[in-house]
Amino acid sequence: MNYQIILEQIHSDITPLLGQGKVATYIPALSIADPNDFAMTLHLITGEVFHVGHVQKTFSIQSISKVFMYCMALSLFEDKIQGRVGVEPSGSSFNSLVQLEYENGIPRNPFINPGAIVIADMLVTHFGELADDEILQFFRNSCDDFSITINQEIAASEHDSGFRNLALASLMKSFGNIHNRLEPILDTYFNACSIEANTTQLARSILHLAHNGIDPITSNVLLHPQHVKRINALMLTCGHYDASGEFAYKIGLPAKSGVGGGIIAVVPDVMSIAVYSPALNSHGNSLIGTKALELFAAYTGHSIFSKS
Ligand code: GLN
Repeated sequence: MNYQIILEQIHSDITPLLGQGKVATYIPALSIADPNDFAMTLHLITGEVFHVGHVQKTFSIQSISKVFMYCMALSLFEDKIQGRVGVEPSGSSFNSLVQLEYENGIPRNPFINPGAIVIADMLVTHFGELADDEILQFFRNSCDDFSITINQEIAASEHDSGFRNLALASLMKSFGNIHNRLEPILDTYFNACSIEANTTQLARSILHLAHNGIDPITSNVLLHPQHVKRINALMLTCGHYDASGEFAYKIGLPAKSGVGGGIIAVVPDVMSIAVYSPALNSHGNSLIGTKALELFAAYTGHSIFSKS
């Protein structure tokens, strides 16, 4: 398959759609993103890499960080997560408070904000206030790139505008599902969301999820195969909030989005993918990024459900 030609075809197909969707503004520092930006990287487990678009452009990974936080939590806490965070699709938006009230402060899954906030609480219990640094190190290690940093301006902007996340954390604390003080937990969460990467680095960071937990380039063991299965299953069922069903239906790959405009996706045993385009659809997922993955699935036939 000629992946470079496929990427170029995708780029030309999405170009007329640029301008659709809206860049996130509820975190003021995200609002300056250029809605016409687009980049896509494919990283094969053989080591080959294919790119199209503005691939050097860095952006904050936002909710994609929830994948890395959960990878760490699975390795560190395993069974202790059960009872504090579920593994069911939420069918609601990433920062909804309503379901949490009905369900006694237990978030449906770790890929919505309250789920990641509980995971941040567990990481703060384990690492103390250095938890954010541990997440950054874990991400750097997954990319094999130690130049990755946290965008402090975005983290501060999230902190100053994070009333909904504060409300989610407070509500869960009232149910006894948050054990530490709110401030270090939210700082950990905001800093993780504000990690900056480009599509090349992001695709590289999840290559092990396409290769049974082993980085095929360095041979480092990053995750237990059983945990890879769980992460990929959760990305498929919960990676796009209340649009996860549609994403699975149309694309059929484990994937996770962030409001910064990034989406990561895994083709097990073949490759990892990262796409960037900051204008979002009404579910808070990259509109053009979703479209690009849809085209990718159609042109390549890659899906976890069928071979074509
Ligand atoms: N930092 C964002 C928030 O807390 C992450 C949400 C997202 O990417 N969906 O609202």
